[in-house]
Amino acid sequence: MDSFTVATGSTDNMIDITGKVSDIVTASGMTSGLCTAFVPHTTCGITINENADPAVKKDILKELGKIVPRSDGYLHGEGNSAAHIKTLMTGNSVTVIVESGKLVLGTWQGIYLCEFDGPRTRKIYVQTVSKLI
Ligand code: ZN
Repeated sequence: MDSFTVATGSTDNMIDITGKVSDIVTASGMTSGLCTAFVPHTTCGITINENADPAVKKDILKELGKIVPRSDGYLHGEGNSAAHIKTLMTGNSVTVIVESGKLVLGTWQGIYLCEFDGPRTRKIYVQTVSKLI
C-alpha cells in the first residue's frame, strides 16, 4: 500500500489528485489490474468528476452546500455534521481500472479529494492489484 497527503486549503474544496494516484500506478510497474484510492476520514470524501472546466467543481460545492446547510439544528456536538453528510454523498473510495500501465479514465474525468471540513492535511491510501493472467 502507498499513501500521500494533501493540504486542502479551505473549508470546502475539491482537489484533483489524479496525477498523484497515477504516479503510484506508474511506480508499481503494473500493466493491468485495479487501483483503489481510499480516504481514512469522516469529513472528507473522494470522487471522480469533470477535470476540464473548473466551474464544475464550484457548482458541485455550491449545490452540496444548499442540499446540506452548514447549520440545521444538527445534534453532533463537534459542529461539523454537514461535512459528515457530504462525505456520505461522495463516498470514501474510488476504484479505477488500470490498463497498459495507466488509469482508465474518461477524457473529462479526474479523481478528486473532496474536503468538507478544512483546511486540513488529508491522507489518501492507494492500493494496486495486478491482474494474474
Ligand atoms: Zn464530527
